[in-house]
Amino acid sequence: MAQISVRNVSKVYKGGVKAVDDVNLGIENREFMVLVGPSGCGKSTTLRMIAGLEEITDGKIWIGNRLVNEVPAKDRDIAMVFQNYALYPHMSVFENMSFGLRLRKYPKHEITRRVQEATEILGIKHLLDRRPRQLSGGERQRVALGRAIVRKPQAFLFDEPLSNLDAKLRVQMRTEIHKLRLRLQTTFVYVTHDQTEAMTLGDRIVVMKDGKIQQCADPMTIYDKPANKFVASFIGSPPINLMNGRVIKKERKYYFDEGKFQTRIVEAMHAVMAPYEGKEVIFGIRAEDIYDKLFVSEASPDNIVRAACEVVEPLGSEVYLYLNSGKNPFIARVGAHNRPEVNRDMDLVFDMSKVHFFDRETEKTIV
Ligand code: ADP
Repeated sequence: MAQISVRNVSKVYKGGVKAVDDVNLGIENREFMVLVGPSGCGKSTTLRMIAGLEEITDGKIWIGNRLVNEVPAKDRDIAMVFQNYALYPHMSVFENMSFGLRLRKYPKHEITRRVQEATEILGIKHLLDRRPRQLSGGERQRVALGRAIVRKPQAFLFDEPLSNLDAKLRVQMRTEIHKLRLRLQTTFVYVTHDQTEAMTLGDRIVVMKDGKIQQCADPMTIYDKPANKFVASFIGSPPINLMNGRVIKKERKYYFDEGKFQTRIVEAMHAVMAPYEGKEVIFGIRAEDIYDKLFVSEASPDNIVRAACEVVEPLGSEVYLYLNSGKNPFIARVGAHNRPEVNRDMDLVFDMSKVHFFDRETEKTIV
């Protein structure tokens, strides 16, 4: 296991694409770090530079105490797991898993011992003689994991390892990776575009966009205290509701004026919101912070929003309401027993203590 340090790292591909732009990242020993962001944001390039599969245009990368800029991938003592498994089709599972060790001239008994240990951890002992084409997607991914485990590397680098699996298998493999991580007690860097994977697996999450880090923090901080509008909207499902509007002041109280409704800004936010009086801001509220008023015992009239209920989507354990204020569409996630009528106006309660405000120009979080 090792800590990984990425300092002022940039990558410009031939042709001038700046895929990674001055990234700084410190990954602790035994930490599970997830890089997440939309396609093309530079997360794979960052990982591949750590792995040594891509040259670093600018900056420095350390693995442990070793500066690895000039160290070839095979000498970095890390193992990488890819989305497409990258198994050798003509080799059996045993041969695939032991290939790296054989290449490094490990003694036979040590190879057998390590492969056995890994197959036990992954539950694939019965597959050792099969070829990759005789395996399901999930089994192939386990073999790819096994091949990484036997190396006992200083760090595991995962590049979208679950993307080729169907939804159910992904969830299952996610929990397996979680268990694996607890068992192996080593450093993981994991790339995904899937915010649920990021939230559930990461000790910390790095959210990237356009080659730049937007925020690096633990999952709940990312969710509750996003650094900007992009992070707020990328993390969370359904995505946070965003509305443009203005901050106004009436009788020493501040309100968010959406155009069709006004909701009162809680006192705790007054100090930071005061400079925005009269100005346009972006208002954000998550679907779970909006309630059907019928189910709220005490609601201040200052928090009530009237909106048309356009669609009711029961999901079993909860219900999504697709609402429209007349200016902005938004979604509420309410309890399974909430069944408002469709195509009718209804009253909703906004939990104003949970909302976010973003600067219209910089899109940075105000509060
Ligand atoms: P992500 O993993 O977040 O989807 P990538 O790191 O793969 O993003 O890519 C970041 C940017 O770099 C994208 O604009 C992509 O098109 C570009 N890119 C990736 N690989 C290459 C390459 N080999 N040559 C040129 N451009 C590349």
